[in-house]
Amino acid sequence: MGITVRPLLPLLLPLLVTCATANPLPLEIVPGKAVLVAQPDADGRKVWHTRYFQIDSDVALRPNDLLRLAQVADTTATAVKAHPLPLFAPPEDGRPRIAIHARSSTYTEEGGVHGTAGMYVARKALVLVLGEYLVRSPDAARSRLAPRNDEDLVVHEIVHLCMHRTNAGLPQWLVEGLAEYFACAHAGAGRFSFGNMDQQVREHLRTRLSPDDPGIPLVPAADLIPLDGPGWLRYLKDLPTDERYQAYAMSLLLAHQQLHGGKARIDALRGALESPRSNRRPVVLIDPAAAAATQESLVRYWRPKGLSLEFSKGR
Ligand SMILES: [Zn+2]
Repeated sequence: MGITVRPLLPLLLPLLVTCATANPLPLEIVPGKAVLVAQPDADGRKVWHTRYFQIDSDVALRPNDLLRLAQVADTTATAVKAHPLPLFAPPEDGRPRIAIHARSSTYTEEGGVHGTAGMYVARKALVLVLGEYLVRSPDAARSRLAPRNDEDLVVHEIVHLCMHRTNAGLPQWLVEGLAEYFACAHAGAGRFSFGNMDQQVREHLRTRLSPDDPGIPLVPAADLIPLDGPGWLRYLKDLPTDERYQAYAMSLLLAHQQLHGGKARIDALRGALESPRSNRRPVVLIDPAAAAATQESLVRYWRPKGLSLEFSKGR
């Protein structure tokens, strides 16, 4: 019963293991039996409790779709909690909420941004999902994303929710990059694998940005490094819609480097995460003056691994 966590052999990921205390990063996280307990309806919405979350919905979800969502959500929380860095700090009042909306009107009323399929609303400590992205309609062409990508979207937003009290003061590239890092480790249906992150990052970016070509189009590091949460939203708004994922992809590469790029980087990250949250100043993990050098080091790291990073001129 429950969620199986297999510990990682110390030799496989020495960088993470050296910083781990009693809690090494699991190699794989496999979902157990889904937990889904129906609650009384509230405001005309169906309500369920999973192991960690409340899901409420005005969409008629099929039992299997709902069970799968519960498994993806709970295993995402397990994966964030299992990470050796202190990332897991969900909202403290009650069960964190995942709200599914049938209509984009109620989705935007709750704080969803028009044109997005799902998002984390920090001020409400809530994840919103537009129902059409969860329901597998027989007319698959209506969905713009493959089911795997839909689930990765849910994983990304739930990581934000699981880090609700951790996010304060962190640079937004790190917040987005960590969420995308877990989405990258997600192999579908709540199964996570952290054993070969380089390969998973490569496949993740190739699938989304450049299926037929090793060239990966990205926004420059210098654009992202100084951004806080509101600055990130303004930056995305100014990017053409089909280039927005490039900002997430670049954040993923920066976060991956912070996690796997040597002891100094991971120590700096751990120090930032462990600093008191109440009066946390904005954390600087990459000096904006080092943006060009950081970008060059990423180019050198990924080229022999099959990704040729290509940067736009930036803003
Ligand atoms: Zn995000």
